Order: sequence, then C-alpha cells, then structure tokens
Amino acid sequence: MKHLFLGLSILCCLIHPPFSQTVLAQSKTEAVDSSWKQSYRAVATKTNNLKHTKLVASFNYQKSQMNGEVWLKLQPHFYPTNQLVLDAKAMDIKEVALMKGAVKSKLVYQYDSLQLHIDLDKTYTAKESYTIYIQYIARPNEFKGQGSEAIRDAKGMYFINPLGTDKDKPTQIWTQGETEASSVWIPTIDKTNQKTTQEFYLTVPSKYVSLSNGLLVKQTDLKNGFREDVWKMDLPHSPYLFFIGIGDYAVIKEEGAKATDGKRKVEVSYYIEKAYEKVAKKIYGNTPQMIAFFESKLGVPFPWSKYAQISGRDFVSGAMENTTATLHSDAVQQDARELIDGNNWESTIAHELFHQWFGDYVTAESWSNITVNESFADYSQTLWFEHSQGKDAGAYENYTALRSYLNSPTDAEKDLVRFFYKDKEDVFDLVSYQKGGRILNMLRHFVGDDAFFASLNKYLTDNKFSNGSAIKLKLAFEAVTGKDLNWFFNQWYFGNGHPYVRIQQKYLADQQKVLVTIQQTQTQDKIFTLPVGIDVYVQGKRNHYEVWSKNRVDSFYFPAAVAPDNVNVDNDKVLLWAKDESKPIQQYAYQMMHAHNFMDRFEAANEAATNLKNPAAKAIIEAAIKDSFHIIRSIALNSYNPSSIDAAMEAQILELASKDKVSTVREDAINVLSKLNKANYLPYFEKWINDSSYTVAGAALAGLAQLDTVKALTYAKAFSTQTIKKRLNKEVASILIQYGDASVFDFIANAYSTLNIQSSEKFEMTSPFGKLLQQTTDPVKFKKGIDLIVEYREAIPQGFRTQTDPYFNFKILGDILKAKKQKGENELAAIVSAALPKM
Ligand SMILES: [Zn+2]
Repeated sequence: MKHLFLGLSILCCLIHPPFSQTVLAQSKTEAVDSSWKQSYRAVATKTNNLKHTKLVASFNYQKSQMNGEVWLKLQPHFYPTNQLVLDAKAMDIKEVALMKGAVKSKLVYQYDSLQLHIDLDKTYTAKESYTIYIQYIARPNEFKGQGSEAIRDAKGMYFINPLGTDKDKPTQIWTQGETEASSVWIPTIDKTNQKTTQEFYLTVPSKYVSLSNGLLVKQTDLKNGFREDVWKMDLPHSPYLFFIGIGDYAVIKEEGAKATDGKRKVEVSYYIEKAYEKVAKKIYGNTPQMIAFFESKLGVPFPWSKYAQISGRDFVSGAMENTTATLHSDAVQQDARELIDGNNWESTIAHELFHQWFGDYVTAESWSNITVNESFADYSQTLWFEHSQGKDAGAYENYTALRSYLNSPTDAEKDLVRFFYKDKEDVFDLVSYQKGGRILNMLRHFVGDDAFFASLNKYLTDNKFSNGSAIKLKLAFEAVTGKDLNWFFNQWYFGNGHPYVRIQQKYLADQQKVLVTIQQTQTQDKIFTLPVGIDVYVQGKRNHYEVWSKNRVDSFYFPAAVAPDNVNVDNDKVLLWAKDESKPIQQYAYQMMHAHNFMDRFEAANEAATNLKNPAAKAIIEAAIKDSFHIIRSIALNSYNPSSIDAAMEAQILELASKDKVSTVREDAINVLSKLNKANYLPYFEKWINDSSYTVAGAALAGLAQLDTVKALTYAKAFSTQTIKKRLNKEVASILIQYGDASVFDFIANAYSTLNIQSSEKFEMTSPFGKLLQQTTDPVKFKKGIDLIVEYREAIPQGFRTQTDPYFNFKILGDILKAKKQKGENELAAIVSAALPKM
C-alpha cells in the first residue's frame, strides 16, 4: 500500500521548529493512554488453513450490496478440530453448510456481525480437508467504526456513484482489502499468514469491464444486459490481496515483458478511464521494463500470470498491490499536458510492482513485520530511479525519503518491527516505509551489491507462497554472506531511533596527521555501531579508510603531510543519521569539484547557498548552476539574492528560464527573474504563460503579476474558464483571490474541493484558499471553506498527521483566526475555533 501525499515533502520545510515542539509536547500529554503498549500483538494462530476460495457474486447497485455464495476449502493446521472461525463483517448470512460431494448439509453457527463461529459435523485431522458453503449478502455501507484514522474507513468494497446520479463521476466498484477488510465482502480467515488459490465468478453489467486476481478464463453473455466473468488464480496468496474492480474502462494491453526464464510472457495491461486512453502508455508504459529490471535484480521471475493496473475514484489510499491487479488512486490519471513535467506517479508504479514479490509472493507474517512488505517497496523506488534515470536520481530519491523520516521526530520512538501498537493501521508510517528503505540501503552497502541481491533471492525463494519476517530476512543474509548480522538487526529492526552525530576535524601539523572525531550526541540511552567510510584527500590524492563509530566519542588519526584538501566522512553517503558537520568551505569547494556522488555535490551546494559572499562558495554555485542533475541547478538558482546578481549571472538565469530541459529548473529560474522586478522581462513572461508546461506557465503568470496586475488578472480570468492544473491553477487562484471580486469564491472553493487529496496541487492551493477565507465575510461561504480545509486535514493518514496537523492548525486555520479576531468578526472566529483541536 502506498499513501501518496505529494505535498508533504514541501511541508517539511514549512513547519517551523516551534510547531514541531508543540507536537512533541502534545504527544507527551496524549501518552497518558498507553495501555496498548502492554498488549502484545500475536501472530494469528493457524487452527484451520484456507486452501481454495470459490466465489459466485452479483452486485446490487441500488443498495450498494453484493450477493455472494462462497465455497471455502479448508484443512486443520496441526491439531484436530471440530470448530471453524471465519471473519465475515456486517453480512446478512443466509446459509452455512458443509459440502458432501454436491450435497449441502446445514451446519450450526453463531454470528456476531464480525465473526462466524461454525460447529463442524465432526473433528477433522490435519490430513483431512473439508469444504464450507456460505450464502450471504455483503453490506459494506453497514460496516462502521472498525476503520482507523489511517484509512478513513475500512468498508472493503466501495460502490462509487452506484446510481449514476453524479454526472461528473463514473460508476465504479473497487475493493481495498488491506489491512483486514476483504472480510467485509467475502467470508474468509482475514489474516496475512493465510494463503489461498481462488476462482471468482462475477456477474457484471455488460457495458462494464471487470478485473480480478489471476487470469480471465471465461466470459459468458447472459443475454439480459449482464455477463459472467470468470477469474482464476492458480497460485496461493493472502486474503487482503483479493481484488474486484468493475467499471467503464479502456483496457490497453502491452506486448508483455518476457520473464527471465525466457519462456513465459507476462500479460501486462492498463485499465484506464476512456478520457485518458491515449496517454495510458505515457503513464504506465515503463511497467514492462520495470518487470524485467526487478526480475534481473532479484533473480526471481515475476511470480504471477499477469500484471494489470487500474485506478479507482475516491480511493482511500495512494495505491494498493493486490496480487496481479494493482489499484491506484485516480490521481495516477494525468493528462498529456501534465505529463510534460514528467510522470509524478512513476515511483508509485514501481512501489506497487515490487510488492508483487515483497508482500504478495512472500507476505509479512503479521502487521508487526510489515517492514518486509513496505520497506522493500519503498526501497524499490530508489532502485528503479537509479536504474532508469541514473545514480543521481536514485540518490536523490533516497535522500528525500531519509529527510522525511528525520523530519518527524516522534517516529524515532518506534521500533521498525513492532509487536506493540495502538492500531494495526499505525504501522503504515515513515518508519516502515522511508526509514526501513534507508536501512535496506545501508545493508546493501554494508554487504555489497551482489550479496544483497543474492540474499533477497534466497529470502524470496525460501519463503515463496508463504510468509516472511525480519528474522527470516536476517537468516537469509547471514546464510549468503557468512557474516553475523545480529548487531545490525537488533540495532535497526528490533530497536528504535537513529544516531545524531557531531563530526569535527583538526589538522595536527606537528604530527602530520588529521584528527577526525565522531561524537554520538543522541539523548537516547543507546550507542549505535556504525561502519564509516572516510576519504581523506591530501595533495590531490584520495586515501580511503574504513572505521567504526561505536562509542560516545571516537577519534581517528589519518596521515596528512599537509592540511587535507577535504575530509569526506561517510563518503558514500549511506548512513542513516542526523549529522552536524563542521568543515571549511574550501573543503566543500574541493568536494564539489571532485565529487563521487550526488550527495557530495548536494551538500557542497547547500553549504555554499547560505554563504554566497565567500569566493569559495561562489565557485561552488558557479559549478552547481551547470550541474548535470536538475536538483543541483535548482539549489544554485534558489541561492541567488536578487540584489547581488551581476549581468553574467542574469544572462545565465535567462538561458535556464528559456531552455532548461527540466521544467522545475525553468520555474526556479523564472522565479528569480520575477524577483528582479524588471519591466524588460514582461514580454518573456507573456510568452512563457503559453508554455505547454503548467509549471512554467504558472511561474510566468506569477512573474507577470509582479509587473502588471491588470494584465495578470485578465489572463487569470481567461484561464479560469479552461482546464488548468498544477502551478498554473494555483497562481490563477491566488491572483483571483488577491485582485478579483467576491464572485471568485465559488470558483475557488469548487476548484479546491474537486482536487484529489493525494495531489500536491491541493496542498499548494490550501494557503491561497486560506487567504481568501481571511477576506470572506459571508458566513455560509466562510463555513463551507473552513469545512473543506478540515475535511482535507482529516483525510490525511495518521502516519503523516504529526507533520500536517500543525501546518493546518497553526498556519492555515491559525492565520484565519487571527485575521478574524483582528477585524472583530467574532461569529466567523468562532467557526474557526470550533475547527481547531482543544488545547
Ligand atoms: Zn506499499
């Protein structure tokens, strides 16, 4: 599963320290309710095991219900039993029977609306299987209260616009099983350590297509406006990965990626709303190459018979890796113009695909070990970018994930593997994803590439169609490498936190040595064991050393005939730590010119950006603006102070604004030109406003607004009648808010409410929308606006809320409250106060 809140990376930088401290203080008060810390979350006991699941279903769109008949083949795990307990939530159970050949024999059962307790006709041993028949009606809308805050609800099956009353939304059905919601629509043992083969017989309206796990083996026209689709899955997987999707989609098939065994072809297909049919391959088209790449790295052919991807309206998460049938949020559907800036769903596509191995083929034994699903899927994003876009792109992906974990201090309190948690949804957080992915990156570096992928191969092969855990992962790595890895797993998987280090150096001329000290400064009562690579450059020559940091303070002495050109600690930039490093800017300049990786240049450029008056820093920025990787060029652009830009720099900025191949670099360059406030750029801005990139056009409109508000308002009004997205949408909204009249409220509120909550656009529009509300005096409109912001705040999953809540509460709502109080609009102030948490 992947929560994809694109705006959040921006958020990290917006939250000022006081807010984070407030969050910490709040979480300490909340810690009073810590009873959950005492309740051990056991791996589910296997009394009976699922073997095969057969479902015959039809869909009642009028009532948003599913009529089902299910045949479950089961077998006791080890001990004989005469009882069967199934998960079956909020269902209307019509009949429970034992199949004796083709004959049904009724069984006695108790049903408490969550579980079915069935008395079997006799005691079965582990050698005997039996088949249970259940006829039922699934009523997903009647299942309430079991969802957590992470997933807004856990209805399992969603009927979207079932009666077609909303003209702007297609009619769809889709399911979301993780964590334990498949049992809302199919009686099963809804635990990750169960695996079953399946066959689904689905009666669907003829005008729609269906998608489920496995292969579509048969379609029968029922001649009454309906069709029966038969989906069959011959290989076992866990119930939370069951999937049904039904709707009006175009189905685009790829030729298929050839599996590494050279024989099979995997059927690859994309189910997309028809308006996006033409761009389907621009969005999903790298999937065959991704399959081939992951197969070659893992040495395990794609485990399943096909791989389809579909999107669902109003999806409750970012995407979900249902076996052979990944479901994406409809934010995946970007139009041709949006795609000019690049596919913002590429990492999610890689993430869900990698789950087909890590999650679906080998499944976490319980939610406590979700790391063996999610940390791998997260890390696959780094692997894919490294492969497809180069080492810099991989390293940057790795860095942004590390940063988002480090920016969330409360997450440092949690172990990666957790047998104690408040709610099972809580494990889907920055620790299981971003931190876990960085731990894998360290492990890869520590054992070496070949050993890393050989160990993953062993883990997958040893546990295929079964369950995995951090312990099993450790065993696979130890077996392959011959190394003891208890220290690594104890420290990173079964422990919490991360090191904070202070790195200092001193040249000892009399001894011809350089002293490097690494001090671990975390307040946590734990010292980390860290293998540290150090490059010491002396007289233009690089010397590499491998040392260990294992004490509060470690001192290392390296030979240096003269003061070193650069001391590069953690030279490959792989350690998961928060560091405070002091070294002269001249060393950073040397590092920039002799960099071995992206992070060397990134750190040097960032260091220089804060200190441009220094000639060494200026030299770094001059190199940075010509860097081959766009992020470094952007750092250089953002470092410029408008008052100190000379003619040569300005010419260079104009060049980047006009021609850079990456639109975000053009955007940054246009931003700098805007700050110059020079009328001679007016014709440029007017030209770029019509650029095919929304990002470039938006930046240009903002630039124009600096120089000529009347013209900017005219453009904004014209754009507001067209389909516009991304930064252009945001700038149009902010210009209308700033210079337009009261009539703009409905346009803005409508634009804001229809944006997908997973999009960066929505996040970015929140601030201008908040400013509009500061000026809004109509109480009905004002209340509607506040409600929209609160709805967005509440829709963000729990794992991100420690970062986002302060932003919404202190910055957006807080500023509105302040404005209303200042104006004496007490009635409106009260509406905002009611939307804020009680302190
Ligand atoms: Zn995932």
